Amino acid sequence: MADISTTSFGTWSSEQLILCSDDSLGLRAVIAIDDTTLGNGFGGVRFRAYPTPEAGITEARRLARAMTYKNAAAGLNYGGAKSVLFAGDPVSDRPAFMRRYGEFIARTGSAYMPGVDMGTTTDDLKWMIEGGAQVLWVDDDPSPATATGVLHSIKAAVAATLDSDSLAGTHVFIQGVGHVGESLARQLAAEGARLSLMDTDRERMEQLAHELEAQPLFDTDVTEVECDVFAPCAIARVIDPTTAERLQCRVVAGAANDTLTDDNVAETLHRRGITYVPDFLANAGGVIDVDGRHHGKSHDERTLALEAIGDRVGSVIDTARKTGITTVQAAQQYARKRIDSARSNPADRKTPDE
Ligand code: NAD
Repeated sequence: MADISTTSFGTWSSEQLILCSDDSLGLRAVIAIDDTTLGNGFGGVRFRAYPTPEAGITEARRLARAMTYKNAAAGLNYGGAKSVLFAGDPVSDRPAFMRRYGEFIARTGSAYMPGVDMGTTTDDLKWMIEGGAQVLWVDDDPSPATATGVLHSIKAAVAATLDSDSLAGTHVFIQGVGHVGESLARQLAAEGARLSLMDTDRERMEQLAHELEAQPLFDTDVTEVECDVFAPCAIARVIDPTTAERLQCRVVAGAANDTLTDDNVAETLHRRGITYVPDFLANAGGVIDVDGRHHGKSHDERTLALEAIGDRVGSVIDTARKTGITTVQAAQQYARKRIDSARSNPADRKTPDE
């Protein structure tokens, strides 16, 4: 990695950047392999529309960088990669489309191993495997594990910030109650947290809010919600310099990737006494669980691995406080230690099955 930012990129700061196209299927994609020091690049396939090809390419690179940090900080033997499929006209034969994409991925020789992300499913992964892609696990949706990791992150950040070992009565505002956000809401409700929920899918959000006795929010700016914890679980870059100055919470910890528009926003949150849990630490539960299943780990072992996310978050917050740096800087330093050490010992590089 030429620089350590998760949000800015020089021309040559990705190891490999691959554009794919097949006009007969309307397929356009970019595979960004950020860094393979720790192993083959592992990261999801995002399938959505972008205003320009450049916007999709930038998003793939930002997300691939975040995967480098996520996998490294989680102690996994994978590098960081991510890919974007550009949504255009409706796909008429999805299996053929995904098989073809699997063929492109196969050409990376497993340097890129895809997972699910926004807009893709485990069925898509199965078709990519038919095209030759190497995939670690396809039998379960990783979202509930991601949500459990976010829960442990929230607990650790609340303990460090509000000096409370319990979430009972803690007010958590969740933006986005999709695959991860809904599971998180249920897990938080079981802990006795007070919930406010917001989603652009109004019907889905109202149903869940009714079931969990949560406060439903409509057309609300995230800075208007006074709460203990803001959990972004929807879109990227929800906290920009202006939002960071106006948020009314004590903790930010959620599943959304690429939450801050730039790393400097972390300085603003830090100055305002808001504990920010870096997204790549908080949302690592899915990849940790996929890796555990790939290696045949038991349910108890995988449960402990998710709990360890909370320990890491606690230790990063502690380091940030003791050294006066932001939690983003502390988490990046933590992840980079592993990468730098593997760089000086390339013989330690692992294959996906080790
Ligand atoms: P999802 O698509 O299932 O859910 C997203 C939800 O957000 C949807 O219900 C959608 O209606 C809602 N939404 C979209 N725009 C919104 C807005 N402006 N305001 C409020 N709600 C909005 O996605 P997901 O799998 O739950 O993932 C959520 C986030 O977590 C994404 O950023 C994703 O990259 C990240 N993430 C997910 C996983 C995972 O295991 N699924 C793992 C790591 C990170």
